[in-house]
Amino acid sequence: MDIIHLLPDSVANQIAAGEVIQRPASCLKELVENSLDAGATNIQVIVRDAGRTSLQVIDNGSGMSETDARMAFERHATSKIASAQDLFALRTMGFRGEALASICAVAQVEVLTRRETDEVGTRLCISGSHVESQEPCQCPVGTNIKVKNLFFNVPVRRKFLKTDQTELRNLLNEFYHIVLVYPHVQFTFVSNDEIILELPIGTEKQRIEAVFGKGNKPYTAQFVDIKTDTEIISIRGFVGKPETANKNPQQYFFVNGRYMRHPYFHKAVLTAYAGMLPGELNPSYFIYFDINPELIDVNIHPTKTEIKFQDEQTIFQILLATVKESLGKFNLTPSLDFNREGEIEMPLPSQRTDNSASFTTPHVVFDPNYNPFSRTNKTSSKGWEQLYAETREPQLPVNEEEPALFDMALTDITPYQYKSYLIVPCRLGLLLVNQHRAHTCVLYNQYIAQIDLGKGASQQLLFPEVIDFTPDEMVLLQTISEDLRVVGFELDQFSQNSYSISGTPATLNAQDIPNTIHNILHLIRETGANAKDEWRKKIALSLAKDTAIPNGKSLTKEEAQKLLEQLFELPSYRRTPDGQTVVSVITDDEIKRKFDI
Ligand code: ADP
Ligand code: MG
Repeated sequence: MDIIHLLPDSVANQIAAGEVIQRPASCLKELVENSLDAGATNIQVIVRDAGRTSLQVIDNGSGMSETDARMAFERHATSKIASAQDLFALRTMGFRGEALASICAVAQVEVLTRRETDEVGTRLCISGSHVESQEPCQCPVGTNIKVKNLFFNVPVRRKFLKTDQTELRNLLNEFYHIVLVYPHVQFTFVSNDEIILELPIGTEKQRIEAVFGKGNKPYTAQFVDIKTDTEIISIRGFVGKPETANKNPQQYFFVNGRYMRHPYFHKAVLTAYAGMLPGELNPSYFIYFDINPELIDVNIHPTKTEIKFQDEQTIFQILLATVKESLGKFNLTPSLDFNREGEIEMPLPSQRTDNSASFTTPHVVFDPNYNPFSRTNKTSSKGWEQLYAETREPQLPVNEEEPALFDMALTDITPYQYKSYLIVPCRLGLLLVNQHRAHTCVLYNQYIAQIDLGKGASQQLLFPEVIDFTPDEMVLLQTISEDLRVVGFELDQFSQNSYSISGTPATLNAQDIPNTIHNILHLIRETGANAKDEWRKKIALSLAKDTAIPNGKSLTKEEAQKLLEQLFELPSYRRTPDGQTVVSVITDDEIKRKFDI
């Protein structure tokens, strides 16, 4: 008996859907791109429960005939290309004819559509690739597609969806990618009956302002224009002035009206900023490329945002020169703040070579066989060497039996402050403590204790401060607001895009509030902390870093002593929770060696 047979369409479509539709955000992308391809000038996206319950896209585009409406949901059904040749001159977003077939394979879909020339429209209901009904109906010109219960028939996929907050952020990010490049189209984004974004028709700059601007001062004032036209490519857009670089930059490339990721071109932009940015800060940019579609290949994968260019090296050079020229033309001398905290790094062991510098940096000897948990080691003085052993585990516990670090009480030692380091004699030699990192450890432990207790000291603000946030920041804030309360923030949603802060942790200066909250959001987003205890740790760490004594601040003797006391009481003080070295020792032996003793 022959055993090979063709898969029924419904099964084939479900398999294909696995590639194209991974989460509500991919659904949004496909539907909105279809609306744009249909020439819509007004597009509304309406989601419920981050698209899990429903995701609806309403457009005023061309609409479809009765037959086309039915055909559109077949696999490889498209009106956009007819031959393989067309693939090399694409001007539309879609072309595979896979999206609608994939969506209807894994959801319950309802479509209302009408062309301008038709008296009546068509209503079509499809569930899991199965057409349940098709009938004439009254509806406005355009197309209205509602996707309900995504993955209702693929429970594994449904289970893989993240929390509503995360999926909503994914939806918004996907939405940004599209709206930023279609400023001449009006968009609305509604989530659970609340209008999250309303974007009128305007210029590219006005669109950027409408998405990321926060009201008080124009967001786009932070940018300079770039523009160049060459034979192979036109580049235009906006790049952030160096002094507006930050930890959470908005970085977007678009090519021929399509968002793309391009690490190589990203490098070109960063190279143009060489020497203008402090270490960990990055510029924002919105850069739009226009190129003959025959010179790029978008046909890599439906969900991939990478795009291949024929002549990447030349474009790299053009982009680099353009950005550099604009930054130069506007005579932008960077105002760097060299006192920024956390910048003073102790040399890493790998960088320590005794002859490489004009002075000799300490050479750290450690015993690789030392086991901090073994009792026998504890009694020997070798046990000390764990203090400067490079450990991968920043939270290495200190055994209680460890001999005291100091010969006398810390209150009897006067720490010497050299730049950002407190220096105290200890049993092993000279102990160097970075003050900012030390205080970060102390505060981190305090904040964690408050979180565990469920209560933190709060100070009331005389005048509540209203802070604006972008829609995705608002979503994240809602997720973590309870934990912010626990560390002492008193906050209430004030409007659709702002929170009012009426109390803060007692340790925080009023003028630092917006920055501190943004830093918390950034750290959580950057590290992808998804579970409650993960983001709680990030809140504690971010807050600790922001409220710790800055490097270089001069301390009184009492302050220095208190800091050291608090530090050495901690169960783990060698490294900050994110792994930075807090204490280091120059041993007696090393000092002797310097004097040839
Ligand atoms: P593709 O976009 O790759 O052609 P899709 O499965 O996304 O494939 O859509 C199939 C076809 O359905 C499109 O080629 C288009 O003709 C039609 N279509 C889809 N969405 C719309 C819409 N919003 N308005 C008008 N026509 C649409
Ligand atoms: Mg499409």
